[in-house]
Amino acid sequence: MENERKTLDDRQKMTDLDRLRHSCAHVMATAILRLWPDAQFASGPAVENGFYYDVELSHRITPEDFEKIEAEMKKEVKANHTFEKITVTRDQAMRDAETGRLGGLAERPGQPAKFKIGNLSDIPDNEPITYFKNGDFLDLCAGPHVMRTGNIGAFKLTTVASAYYKGDEKNPQLQRIYGTAFKNKTEMEAYFAMVEEAKRRDHRKIGQEMGLFAIDTEYVGPGLPLWLPKGTAILEELEKLAKETEFAAGYVRVKTPHIAREKMYTTSGHLPYYAESMFPPMELIEEGPLKKAAPVVRQTMNEGIAKAMEKLGTIIPGWSGEDSKAGLEVYNTIADELEKPHVGDRYYLKAMNCPHHHRIFAAEPRSYRDLPLRLAEYGTCYRYEQSGELFGLMRVRSLNMNDAHIYCTEEQFGQEFNAVNEMYLKYFKIFGIEKYQMRFSTHSTAGLGKKYVNEPALWLKTEDMVRKVLIESKINYVEVANEAAFYGPKIDVQVWSVIGREFTLATNQVDFAVPAKFGLTYRDKDNTDKTPLCIHRAPLGTHERFIGFLIEHYAGNFPLWLAPEQVRVMTIGDDAPLVAYAKSIIAELRAQQVRAEGDFGTDKINGKIQRAEEAKVHTMLVIGPRDLEAGHVSVRLHGKGNQGAKPKAEVIAAILESIRDRRA
Ligand SMILES: [Zn+2]
Ligand SMILES: [Zn+2]
Repeated sequence: MENERKTLDDRQKMTDLDRLRHSCAHVMATAILRLWPDAQFASGPAVENGFYYDVELSHRITPEDFEKIEAEMKKEVKANHTFEKITVTRDQAMRDAETGRLGGLAERPGQPAKFKIGNLSDIPDNEPITYFKNGDFLDLCAGPHVMRTGNIGAFKLTTVASAYYKGDEKNPQLQRIYGTAFKNKTEMEAYFAMVEEAKRRDHRKIGQEMGLFAIDTEYVGPGLPLWLPKGTAILEELEKLAKETEFAAGYVRVKTPHIAREKMYTTSGHLPYYAESMFPPMELIEEGPLKKAAPVVRQTMNEGIAKAMEKLGTIIPGWSGEDSKAGLEVYNTIADELEKPHVGDRYYLKAMNCPHHHRIFAAEPRSYRDLPLRLAEYGTCYRYEQSGELFGLMRVRSLNMNDAHIYCTEEQFGQEFNAVNEMYLKYFKIFGIEKYQMRFSTHSTAGLGKKYVNEPALWLKTEDMVRKVLIESKINYVEVANEAAFYGPKIDVQVWSVIGREFTLATNQVDFAVPAKFGLTYRDKDNTDKTPLCIHRAPLGTHERFIGFLIEHYAGNFPLWLAPEQVRVMTIGDDAPLVAYAKSIIAELRAQQVRAEGDFGTDKINGKIQRAEEAKVHTMLVIGPRDLEAGHVSVRLHGKGNQGAKPKAEVIAAILESIRDRRA
């Protein structure tokens, strides 16, 4: 449920900005009540990038009303009322809700605060019931807030939508008014500038303009992107980068099928707990050997029983030949059952690559000498995201993951984990990602045996190991309790695009539970069998999300090594010798694996340049008669204009060097 009551834990995690934004929701409610005194409020939490408050109101609020509401909000901020906390009994709260005082500016006889009554019933008996009061507005709320309304430096209402009370469509439909708030005006202006820029750089828009990917809902299905040739060029460059980097770091590559038997996922623990995130199973219907067996079984049973009766010299009641109803019924039931087609096996599309890699580990006997074993694969996984959640390349149902699993001993863990972090940093440098943060999630003792595998000592030990690596390598990280994966601590990597928008790209997880479930062992020096630790890591995340991020990050203006069309050679006019020279340059570049195309039409050179600029071609080589004579080419860079004429060999060498070094 979307507006499920926040737990104490959630409330403790609220940042200063969350508090400010939630406080602003109270201020907005105050303003709305001044304009429409019959408004009934439900819940008003802080959300990503702002806040909302759900309200029931006969007047239909539209963006035209925002200015009016904001003017009233300004008055409340200017009044600088304190957020006064009042603890009350449940009876008192119920009385204030009945009189309409709660969620209002004053008592409203005949208008009980119906949604507040509902919210009241969600508060557990052992939790105190508190109000927060700013000016005349009295609200049922657990906090936290800023000290005074005047602390809200800048705010703006953004949109209005509809939502059911408590997210349940059986409940009344409310108007959800969204807004945002900041410490000051400068921060708010920077935020809205970033939002505008993000719209301009929207990966769905640029992806379509550049012909990178398509989503064919009708034939292929929602959330299943098709990579067009230009998008595939980027995707393969990323794979090449990953393969080279991983090879140098001692990884080995493997390849696994997209499906596996049910047993794989009951063993890993994904079934039944993760079932709703997986595509439903494929059931193989079999008739085969069992159907053929049915008559044989029938005959064998008959003969066996007849023989037994003969031997015993007696008649078994109920089995005495044709009048044996009970006997016949038994035969028939068994035979019918055998003849029926039945589910032979269930297969699932894989939602993650780990179980397959675990089976590769198990495929051969392993000794301590084999460790660390680093199995890498760009594996395709399938996850059944709800259709409402699907979003361009960011939320999809098929994912190409830059996956690897590192099996190692406890002694090796620190070094392996550090090497993974260094790989992240290396990638950030290549992509010009300057701002990043690692979010280190640990367990909670209360969750042991429920949310987390019940291994208290191992949790502390592995968390210590991770923390040590993070501190020693001076990586920018925050630690959050009670957000680990079921089987071990994890790190989510957040990065900011060049325009300052945050993306969660990849995770890096420690797993000390699942290898044991699959019975994975290695023979140690002391000749005993031990279970390895496993590190799950995917520094480049999935192609889908990472390319979505890169499109925004570069606004589609990819560096040369990543650009779908790296070079376009254009001729001034279409004279045969010029075209031949241009074609020879393209052939030379393509022989070196450069994605080079040509434009040799009769139209004016300015038109050709404009087309290439629009297609975001990285390097344009313009060939005129003088270039041909001198063995030169005139270089033009996308968005940077003319770079002048240079000897052909020099230009080609520079292009190859820039690609080889993956220059920004
Ligand atoms: Zn509040
Ligand atoms: Zn994994």
